[in-house]
Amino acid sequence: MLPFLQYCEKKGKSWLLKITGTNHVLGHRLWAKDFPKPTEEIHTKFLIVGGGISGLSACRFLSQHNESDYQLLEMENHTGGNSSNGQNKFSKFPLGAHYLPLPSKENEEIIDFLKESKIYQGDDDNGEPILDEYQMTFPQQERLFFKNAWQNDVVPQKGISKQSQKEFERFFSMMDGFRDRKDSSGRYYFAIPVGDSSKEDEAQQLDKIVFKDWLSQHNFTSEELLWLLDYSCRDDYGLGIKYVSAWAGIHYFAGRKNNWSKKYKDQVFTWPEGNARLASHFSRYIEGKSLTGHLVFETKITEKVEVLSFDNIQKKTKKIVADKVLFATPQFVNERILNKKRTGNFNYVPWLLTTITLKNEFGGDEELAWDNVIYGSDGLGYIYDQHQNVEQIMGEKVITYYKSFSTANCKKARKDLYALQENQLKKIVLDDLKKAHPLIEDFILDMQFHKIGHAMIAPVPNQVFGNSEAKQPIDGKIFFAHSDLSGISIFEEAFYQGIRAAKEMVN
Ligand SMILES: Cc1cc2nc3c(=O)[nH]c(=O)nc-3n(C[C@H](O)[C@H](O)[C@H](O)COP(=O)(O)OP(=O)(O)OC[C@H]3O[C@@H](n4cnc5c(N)ncnc54)[C@H](O)[C@@H]3O)c2cc1C
Repeated sequence: MLPFLQYCEKKGKSWLLKITGTNHVLGHRLWAKDFPKPTEEIHTKFLIVGGGISGLSACRFLSQHNESDYQLLEMENHTGGNSSNGQNKFSKFPLGAHYLPLPSKENEEIIDFLKESKIYQGDDDNGEPILDEYQMTFPQQERLFFKNAWQNDVVPQKGISKQSQKEFERFFSMMDGFRDRKDSSGRYYFAIPVGDSSKEDEAQQLDKIVFKDWLSQHNFTSEELLWLLDYSCRDDYGLGIKYVSAWAGIHYFAGRKNNWSKKYKDQVFTWPEGNARLASHFSRYIEGKSLTGHLVFETKITEKVEVLSFDNIQKKTKKIVADKVLFATPQFVNERILNKKRTGNFNYVPWLLTTITLKNEFGGDEELAWDNVIYGSDGLGYIYDQHQNVEQIMGEKVITYYKSFSTANCKKARKDLYALQENQLKKIVLDDLKKAHPLIEDFILDMQFHKIGHAMIAPVPNQVFGNSEAKQPIDGKIFFAHSDLSGISIFEEAFYQGIRAAKEMVN
């Protein structure tokens, strides 16, 4: 994190503004590679590069398969990657991912992980899961600021035309059909992990066009429906319906099969610190086996694999000699480390997260929901996760506002985001929030802006079906895992990629 502090003065009020972000200054040294010569050597059987969920999941797999000779290297000073968190004196808060829906019943590997983490506690006589409800959302779960008032649920309702209502019904009924649909070999058309989805031509054709075109081919024109779909895609993929493929747009609604539980189909797992809680459940698999603050910058295949890593704390370079190496890092990083472009189509969307501490009186008598969305906004609203914290000292409220930069030019958006200063960021966030909370400034105690330049892979056309070669190992010695190899960035995909690549590596 790179904190820059500044006080904001307005009408005699002042509050603290702070910018943090992933360590892009260290990351950008991958371009210059201006590191000292190695002065230390480490030997290991398996090296895992990257301590996000995919790298952690690979370590868990190794440990559970009686492999204890492995080492994890992570460039930040903590593991978790996009599932990390911050903390102030009132609450923990997410600095990336913040929820996980109930997985499909078939996804036994994640269910096992949730069981070992004591989140999933078993099944009752009716086959319903027994879940720790303290780790789940409960009402009021979502609300939408629409036509100058808050309504329950994010689907716009009040005063919408009959025509729009019919389109909503038709759309959701089509998605129900897609959710259950299987191909001639018995595969779901849309599955999680994505790799289990149908590869039939009809599915692949959906990966070739943008979602907006598919919607217009199917005569969906309702302004409210198109807004909801655009918001949903921006919320999960960073980019809206103009940019993501029809396959990804439909997958958002049809990929998850959590309707197998009648009781919990509408709730999700969440925590004040977001998915950093899930990342913490992997700590037993990396105890004494991880080095943080270590940027991997070079790899050479010899009889073994030699990897160079810069220790950003001791400011020295270490050589790691491993039998096999697994890169749980995004493809734009791999290209730098391997000094070659393996495949073309990997586009990353920048995100801005803003954590705001508010006086307790904020919101007055109205209950904040877990997810609070503003209709028509190009932000994604804010989440309030303190419902989930039973030990919470009731006092100041800590909310996290999310915004992705949905654009055809992510590179420019990333550059622009890095250039924005505290007061510009403050304006962007408050101009949006004031649509629903005109007096919010009277309640703010501090704001922390968290910039993530290459936050997540964008499932633009040809991303999901067009990049399979990026997964291919090199010389049976170098392996690849990262959620971007799935084409969509969610916990389940990172978890799956870690297992898939670790399995390949030990075989
Ligand atoms: C703003 C945001 C919100 C999200 N919300 C959700 C959500 O609510 N639910 C959900 O399921 N998913 C969400 N996601 C998706 C999230 O990305 C995945 O759930 C998951 O955390 C990705 O894990 P990963 O291991 O694939 O990647 P990453 O988290 O990107 O992990 C890669 C790791 O490699 C490290 N690294 C990079 N280069 C090097 C190097 N050269 N040397 C050493 N280490 C290096 C990085 O520091 C990082 O820790 C969100 C993502 C973002 C950005």
